[in-house]
Amino acid sequence: MYKISKSGWLEIITGPMYCGKSEEMIRRLRRVNIAGHTAQVFKPGLDDRYDKSNVVSHNGASIEAIAVDRPKDILERVQDNTEVVGIDEIQFFSKDIVNVCEKLANQGKRVIIAGLDRDFRGEPFGPVPDLMARSEYIEKLHAICVVCGEPATRTQRLINGEPAAFDDPVIMVGAKEVYEARCRHCHEVKE
Ligand code: ADP
Ligand code: ZN
Repeated sequence: MYKISKSGWLEIITGPMYCGKSEEMIRRLRRVNIAGHTAQVFKPGLDDRYDKSNVVSHNGASIEAIAVDRPKDILERVQDNTEVVGIDEIQFFSKDIVNVCEKLANQGKRVIIAGLDRDFRGEPFGPVPDLMARSEYIEKLHAICVVCGEPATRTQRLINGEPAAFDDPVIMVGAKEVYEARCRHCHEVKE
């Protein structure tokens, strides 16, 4: 296989929750930094799981990021001299993110994106399938299924300890919600 040498392409890191997407994003960006290249990192503003201005992995590693609400905010904030653009939690952006990623890659930037390939129901998640089709490089990571210990490809949503139903609302006020990594066979969706 020939390596791409002209600058500007799209690489996606995907898989279920806990598979190490943020960890891998942070690893690649640290190496960009070691190589002395310039990078900017973005994430959607709504994900305030940890710190609004950091990409943080479940094992505690973190890197600075800019929280934005709309995909076009990224275009407005990317500087001309930025060589690498990282975007985490890409599944939460609207479909406009697809054109933003294409534009940045066409401008000659290395665009590293990370996000869930499926939602808790097991369905392809928002703009991610489209971005997978458009990426020059795809890394699909597996977590470990918390039920059987096999490689996990799905994200299990539990509401008050029970598998969530297909049409349960995304936000359940007052309910105790948990997400786990599970394999195809242990993943459950209530009818
Ligand atoms: P993602 O961004 O894909 O949700 P992170 O990079 O935030 O993943 O976290 C990956 C880390 O999560 C692993 O290195 C491991 O320490 C931890 N972890 C917790 N539960 C699991 C699991 N079920 N399978 C794999 N890793 C897990
Ligand atoms: Zn399993």
